[in-house]
Amino acid sequence: MGVWKLITVAAALAVAVVDAAALEPRGQKLVKSDSLRKALKVDALYKKAEILQDFAYSSPDKNRVIGSQGHQDTIDYLHDQIAKFPKYYTVELQPVPLVVGVSANLTANNKTIEVYAVTLAPGGHVTGPLVAIPNLGCEDADFPPSLKGSIALIFRGTCSFGVKVGLASSRGALGVIAYNNGDGNLKGYSLSLFQNDTTPYIPTGGISRGQGEALVAQLEAGTEIIVDLTTESKTITSYNVIAQTKGGDQNNVIHIGGHSDSVTAGPGINDNGSGSIAILEIAIQLTKFSVNNAVRFSWWTAEEEGLLGATYYVAQLSQAEKDKIRLFLDFDMMASPNYAFQIYDGDGSAFNSTGPPGSAEAEKEFTHYFNKIAKLNHTEIEFDGRSDYGPFLEAGIAAGGIAGGAEGLKTEEEVLMFGGASGVQYDVNYHEDGDTVNNLNLECWIEMSRAIAHMVATYARSWESLPPKTKGSVKRGVSDHKKTKAYQRWV
Ligand SMILES: [Zn+2]
Repeated sequence: MGVWKLITVAAALAVAVVDAAALEPRGQKLVKSDSLRKALKVDALYKKAEILQDFAYSSPDKNRVIGSQGHQDTIDYLHDQIAKFPKYYTVELQPVPLVVGVSANLTANNKTIEVYAVTLAPGGHVTGPLVAIPNLGCEDADFPPSLKGSIALIFRGTCSFGVKVGLASSRGALGVIAYNNGDGNLKGYSLSLFQNDTTPYIPTGGISRGQGEALVAQLEAGTEIIVDLTTESKTITSYNVIAQTKGGDQNNVIHIGGHSDSVTAGPGINDNGSGSIAILEIAIQLTKFSVNNAVRFSWWTAEEEGLLGATYYVAQLSQAEKDKIRLFLDFDMMASPNYAFQIYDGDGSAFNSTGPPGSAEAEKEFTHYFNKIAKLNHTEIEFDGRSDYGPFLEAGIAAGGIAGGAEGLKTEEEVLMFGGASGVQYDVNYHEDGDTVNNLNLECWIEMSRAIAHMVATYARSWESLPPKTKGSVKRGVSDHKKTKAYQRWV
């Protein structure tokens, strides 16, 4: 990091202070889509991305993963930026307790294996015979009647690893070894599900696919394997940053969110610096206008460990508070280098997985915006609950969103619509150390930011295009989105 970057940070802060003083509410005009969109500038977005990258690069592991200095700096920055408008916003830091892995040691018949402590699993020292669980360990039937005194070896995939560890624990296992279903190690891997009240989690270590398969082969050959697993974990407090306009109907809220954290591998500037900053900039520009309906902005923690910040938030809401949220819109990866303008398929027309009432209308509003106002091509993506809107869907709250694309491959057809390269990931640096400011597609970013601004302004003015509010809305079927292909790849 060069000295000039420090000056950039200081200058940006100074400008924001001046803005705040000039922007306190007094006879403001009601927000309009075009005025809010016009207030957005690429430069303002980009400068904030540099600040987040500096936070990552000043952190020992050069990332903004939960528990890191880079992530805490991000949380403080988001909070401080929005707290500069005390007359316009009520700002809250919601503490979210998280158990994160610190270190681990593993031996199998006294041979050392590289292992990582899995997030959300407790620390401990366990030793016993290793038992390989057939299939994926997502079903009760995959497990033998008793695992008492043993350590279960379970393959990654299809369901949250927390489901597997819960089942192993309920059969009496002392610990679990998770082995990867893809390349690489399981550093930063998470159980992706908070522990339920009945089945306590047990120490869990993550190893590579090759190491796991070698152990399975030995067990199948009849070799008895005694494993010794030590994991260390610590409980940290991370934070959701939540800001709500003081103006507007507080009982009918448009809720906008994106995650503030990155993965372990890199600084996470597209995923999800781009979404965090887009909504921050919109929140700042919104202070120039008045609203009819309250607008709530949230920056969630620990999305990458299983939507934990958003899950925690929704779990803490009473039904009366849930009913106040007319629509939640999620923004994750707004500046993918080989982008497509992807709209979540809230009406199920493309992927047959629909959201609660209002989700279809949100998709329709985005579609209307891209077709008629921005005059830009767009596609639909599966409404699979793979980002922070998942817990909202499960609570029966209408949801929607757009994305620039992650690890999926761009098709020939999409190249005709958006340019770029076919057969290449939308973001080649997805969850890699190359997700830096250089990874951002600025054209994608500003267009996505304008689309978000359109939605904010539209619903801040009126709910006329959404179906009437239903109290205690009916939940969708048992976590439909968890059955989708994309979700299953992700866990
Ligand atoms: Zn993300």
